[in-house]
Amino acid sequence: MADTHLTARYPRYTSFPTASHFHGGIDGEAYADWLYRLPADRDVSLYIHVPYCDSLCWFCGCHMKVMNRPGPISRFVTAATTEASLVAEAIGRHARVSHLHFGGGSPTILTPQDIAHLMGSLRKSFVIDDQTEIAVEIDPRDLDEAKLDAWAAAGMTRASIGCQDLDPEVQRAINRIQPLSLITRAVEGLRRRGITSINIDLVHGLPYQTVEGLERTLDGILGLSPDRIAIFGYAHVPQLKPHQRLIPTESLPGPAERHAQASAAFDRIVAAGYEAIGLDHFAKPGDALAVAAATGRLHRNFQGYTTDDAGIMIGLGPSAIGELPQGYVQNTPDINAWHKAIGQGVFATARGIALSPSDRLRRAVIERLMCDYRVDVDHVAETVGLSASLVNEAWPRLDAFAADGLIEIVGHRVSILPEARALVQMVASAFDNRFTAPEPMAGRAA
Ligand code: SF4
Repeated sequence: MADTHLTARYPRYTSFPTASHFHGGIDGEAYADWLYRLPADRDVSLYIHVPYCDSLCWFCGCHMKVMNRPGPISRFVTAATTEASLVAEAIGRHARVSHLHFGGGSPTILTPQDIAHLMGSLRKSFVIDDQTEIAVEIDPRDLDEAKLDAWAAAGMTRASIGCQDLDPEVQRAINRIQPLSLITRAVEGLRRRGITSINIDLVHGLPYQTVEGLERTLDGILGLSPDRIAIFGYAHVPQLKPHQRLIPTESLPGPAERHAQASAAFDRIVAAGYEAIGLDHFAKPGDALAVAAATGRLHRNFQGYTTDDAGIMIGLGPSAIGELPQGYVQNTPDINAWHKAIGQGVFATARGIALSPSDRLRRAVIERLMCDYRVDVDHVAETVGLSASLVNEAWPRLDAFAADGLIEIVGHRVSILPEARALVQMVASAFDNRFTAPEPMAGRAA
């Protein structure tokens, strides 16, 4: 799997251009215009960002706020339903939703009444049918039988459970105590309600984490037989997330230990029969994600690797990012500012970026590399109706990678060699005309 220390200096390409290039020149009016121009026959995906959690995990890198009062949470739900109706009004129709994703923050902080209210309103603004995949990020510490019933009644089809690591010392160091029994109870409760597509999220590079401890975590998690597992590298950025200072720097594993953890996890999960998918995902053979990966239909968006091919993402809630044919938009992360805008009947768009033709081609090429580890640039250019010459400047850098034995180039077809797959972000960056490559050798594999 990718060593996130070695590749940390390269973008993860959950979008192109990356969010760091979004700017304030894209506002709510531009967004409304983009929505109005959406093709009438296209499905959309919905992402709902619930901005609250009931406690703070010290490793957290998300846009969230700790909230222990029900009032602001219900107020968020009401405003999100208003935002959904503003979107439907701007589109001018009730668009069909292919994928609906609840993330955050913690969607499981919502009460059964909040869940019913939110889903009922979304169903008034959009067409959500029995083909719509409804995924929910689950904090097992928040879950109870009544919430499970409410999510099942809402039509939930897929659950993504946050685990991170089961070692009590690691859990104390990240302020997230959740024994395996809690995760087991969540998995059993979901399966009893017919929600059988289950993903479990793990993290490596956490304080006091060791290879042995991570392997014990994997033994416990693999015993639950989830359909998918994702394992991300912890990003320690206290300059951006001051609460991460609660994690002592000296407790963090160094680059070699992180690499060993990532490799051990990869080996253990693959040995258990899972297919490795992209940078950090694993799926059972036959799972939709594994099938999409095997057939070149895997996609990458802000939620990571996905089977979602709608290509249009509507983001609702503070900080939520949307993707439209014209470009990306992001809501303000300021919860009060978001409420104020929605209360005034306007979008809370704070920034975004419009795509040039060159951006569109680069985005499509980078997505294929990130998903398939190979790309036929001419074919992609033909698919998006653009000239492959728009990315001509990438070839000298790619030639250098080929000379180093990392990739093979045949015509305009690029393949990353299996032993260099951990460097996919670096290879993809050759097509990123906004990115300045680190100094030579900085991103090489150990
Ligand atoms: S539950 Fe998730 S979003 Fe909330 S603080 Fe913990 S890691 Fe962050």
